[in-house]
Amino acid sequence: MAFCYAKLNKVNLEVWHLHFHPSVSFLFGGRLLTMPPSSHSRRRRSIVDDDQSSNSYADEAPTKSGDVESVKRDNSDDSYQNLRKHFTARNLFLYLGLTFVIMMFLIGGFITLAMYLSQNIEYVDLTEACEDIFGKSDNHLAAEKHATEAYEELNATKAILDTKGPYDIPALLTFNHPDLVLSGDDVGVDQYLPTNIYPYHYSVKLRIHMPVNDNDKFKVSGQVRIEFNVTETSKRIYFNIRNINILKANDWKFRKLTVEKGAHSEVRYVEVPEVMKVGTKYFIDLNFTSHADSGMEGIYLSRYLDSSGRVHYTASTQFESMNARRLFPCLDEPYYRSSFTFVVEHPPSYDAYSNMPNMSRTLVEGGQFAQTTFAPLPNSPTYILALLITDDYAVRSTKTKDGTEIRMLARNEFIDDTKIALESAVDALEWFNKNFQIKYSLPKLDIAGIYSFEAGAMENYGLTTYRETCLFLNTKYSTSENEVSSRTVIIHEFLHQWFGNLVTPLDWSQTFMSEGFARFFEKYALSAITGGKEAYSMELAKNIVPIMLIDAKPVHPNDYVFDSALELRHNFDGITYNRAAAVFNMIRGIVGDDIFFAALRSYLSANKNGHAHWRKLAHALQKLSNPIMDRRWSLGTAWPIPIWYRVSSDPDKLKFVMTEPGKDLIITVAHEDDLIFVNSENHGFYIVNYEGQLFDKVRDALIRFDFLDDAVTRFQVDACPLFLTGAVSPLRYYESLNVFYKAKKLVAPPAKHCQETINDFVKDSDIGTLFREHLLELLRDKNEPEMHDRISSVATNFYLDMAEQFEIEQFVSELSCKNNPWTCTAEESHKFENHVLSCQPNDQTANCVRLKPAERALAYCQGIKTQNKKYYDHLVKLFISSRNPFEDTKLMEGLTCAQDSTIISKLFTLITTQNDHINKADRLRHFYSLYGSNPKLVRQLFIRNVNQILNDFPSSANGFLKTALISKTETDYLEVVQLLHDNHALRNRFAHVFRDILNDSRYFIEIKQKIAPKVIQYFKEVHEAKVIAAASNPELCETFGSCI
Ligand SMILES: [Zn+2]
Repeated sequence: MAFCYAKLNKVNLEVWHLHFHPSVSFLFGGRLLTMPPSSHSRRRRSIVDDDQSSNSYADEAPTKSGDVESVKRDNSDDSYQNLRKHFTARNLFLYLGLTFVIMMFLIGGFITLAMYLSQNIEYVDLTEACEDIFGKSDNHLAAEKHATEAYEELNATKAILDTKGPYDIPALLTFNHPDLVLSGDDVGVDQYLPTNIYPYHYSVKLRIHMPVNDNDKFKVSGQVRIEFNVTETSKRIYFNIRNINILKANDWKFRKLTVEKGAHSEVRYVEVPEVMKVGTKYFIDLNFTSHADSGMEGIYLSRYLDSSGRVHYTASTQFESMNARRLFPCLDEPYYRSSFTFVVEHPPSYDAYSNMPNMSRTLVEGGQFAQTTFAPLPNSPTYILALLITDDYAVRSTKTKDGTEIRMLARNEFIDDTKIALESAVDALEWFNKNFQIKYSLPKLDIAGIYSFEAGAMENYGLTTYRETCLFLNTKYSTSENEVSSRTVIIHEFLHQWFGNLVTPLDWSQTFMSEGFARFFEKYALSAITGGKEAYSMELAKNIVPIMLIDAKPVHPNDYVFDSALELRHNFDGITYNRAAAVFNMIRGIVGDDIFFAALRSYLSANKNGHAHWRKLAHALQKLSNPIMDRRWSLGTAWPIPIWYRVSSDPDKLKFVMTEPGKDLIITVAHEDDLIFVNSENHGFYIVNYEGQLFDKVRDALIRFDFLDDAVTRFQVDACPLFLTGAVSPLRYYESLNVFYKAKKLVAPPAKHCQETINDFVKDSDIGTLFREHLLELLRDKNEPEMHDRISSVATNFYLDMAEQFEIEQFVSELSCKNNPWTCTAEESHKFENHVLSCQPNDQTANCVRLKPAERALAYCQGIKTQNKKYYDHLVKLFISSRNPFEDTKLMEGLTCAQDSTIISKLFTLITTQNDHINKADRLRHFYSLYGSNPKLVRQLFIRNVNQILNDFPSSANGFLKTALISKTETDYLEVVQLLHDNHALRNRFAHVFRDILNDSRYFIEIKQKIAPKVIQYFKEVHEAKVIAAASNPELCETFGSCI
């Protein structure tokens, strides 16, 4: 799964600190919060195991003479505080952001299901029906062969995992929060199924009743035969359902079975009359109806208008993580890989698409339905199955060099805008085919734009699905940032065809083995495909600050075992994606590209059609990598930190050394004045603290040496977290920004990331304007070549540079408007009058408003800010008639700039109630926009309506709650605590979400209390100094407005 990321173009800076998607909150929300608290017990457990902590390092490094630098490793608990007391000015310390060595292995924790409540069902003999549907299927031979292979693969996997080893560290997290004792539906329910059977083939027949008009119900009914192997002698067959009624059930002898409820609400079982024997194959048949809800999980509808104003309904699926069980009864865990045959009946005016190509289409029931039969899908877990039923899609098709068909499926109106996406898809597939040396395994690969789609995209096997904004590109409405986003998201989903689909996480704790690689390859492959040597590490470095900020919070280890569906949603966060990607990149740095790719190939080929587990990759790496890697990483009891460094007297030479656990690392240098630049290549995922005077010395050296661009970048990256934790003072930090700026060596992205966090702390204080002024000074000259030079002096790749440039420009124009509201409003509302008012609701504003796409949101926003009701009414009409997903967002961003409380209440109602005007995929995003404009009022409205909103939009609950309730002040925090106290039902239902909300709020508030006063003090002093200087220089008087 991926989250297609397009930044809101809103003037109000608040918006920068909000989440875009419930699951994306940590991913891009790094700026939201915060830095390490004083205690890191949770993370530490994820870094070192218990044996290791007794093996801790000596306190003081032996720094005996001027020609020796010491590098120490810390594995203590209170990272910064503890580390800092060990310092001497000559020491560097490495702050290890995380480690991947902790591989606690908690497979399953299989539940013992309590049996209660039987559900009687009507008995109908399915013999005839089943023969008719599934008959003497040719697929059975293949399916049975697969069954044997799957069984062997599982045994092999178990053999590796059963070996007692260093990775087996039972590091279950505790999330006890003083203000919240977790209890309720979403806590501690182990949902994994018993493993007494292993399905090898599903035959699924579905009848899909598409609505003809808005009053029609969307209904699905079906039959499934599940064929399985028995792995433990038993009489029970467990499976998952959700919102499904089972009408009939029978066993392989067509005996009626009774469906019973399991211990968890989504588990059912049937008990067969005889004991099933190990190694024998059986099947059950189930008839059912499934109930689609209004959300975007399972099978669901998108509703939209075409250019002629006609309503269309599209049915599509989103199964990850646990939603295949909403369409048909199945063993819905990544552990179970089976083959599948789908037969789908739908209205004849519709077309059906699935993971595999369709084999036949015939009319049935006297032409009332068309029946589409798909080729069998050979080997897949349930979460990447997919269906798409549509009557308004065009198809564009092309082929890769080695003959795989790639098809673009998109709304007719937009198919011409998918050309770039289709081209970049071919590039991506060919690149992966070549570099993994395992050809993509299915005959075709579809790319489908879905009108209402919750995440950014989904890697369904052979039928990848996307938000339309990830695929449609047209200079009339999209920006260069959208193009980069499109390319990276397609690469992400295509990468999953190997990491995720070909080799599937053994269970949800191994999600990082798919998502970490997908995130890693997004930019690595883009750089490789489009040119840009060694771009990846640099790119990662420039944007790593938010990841480090996330990692600084108490977070789960990479392979944390989630115990409920709601909590599992949290697994799709910055830890699982970005931190894992950074760690994989560190591994690449250690072993080098050749060995890294060789290990990936060997891992993929050894486990294809099987299961992913970190240990399996570790084995592949050990076989191929150097002795250090082999010895240390296989033992895994203590993790040697890889250190890359350059010495100032020989800066061209990159040196590498591994720390020896338990020992200080002594690096001998040739000259007394030599300085060491650590991690300049950006492979290491840790922060280097150049303490005290050393910070200034290294900084000055970096200014002096022209050839150390990478080290310059890395130093500026590390400076930010050091500043935010108080290790480096505001004076020192801002002085260094200024020095780099003057030397034209300021690296904009880390500076921007850091200042966004600071802005959150100080924007409401009396230095808010001064602070923004300072930022503008650093970043403003967007149109000057120098600015671009500064960005591209650490050049990575054309596309990545372009996106970066765009992002900084947007940031600057927002800052500018914030500080000069009158000028900005006047200019922009002029644009509104000239360009927007003339557009009529029937026009598409993307065509009608003759402003650049990046300018339009600002013009809409400033028009509304003039508080002219007429403007508002006009813009609402344009919004309601819009058919363009890009423009929808821009228009709503504009609308939510309204300052008037009546208008905000109206918009609140529009956004938080069911209606046809809002694309449900954008509801949360619109809510973020609205909240950003007027947090106080929107928060109050939300709290007043919280039960209704969460009931209407349960799958967006996470995002709504986090947007509205993560608190930036003590008062707001206490309000949330009070809400939990008063509303037990809410607390119990969303306990895990509230745990995050309370944790995030507290860390934000704590860090703010620690850092904000120092920053405020610093800016006041700087300002005073300037005013005093101005007093003796009349020319400067005007700048400051007053002279003393
Ligand atoms: Zn993904």
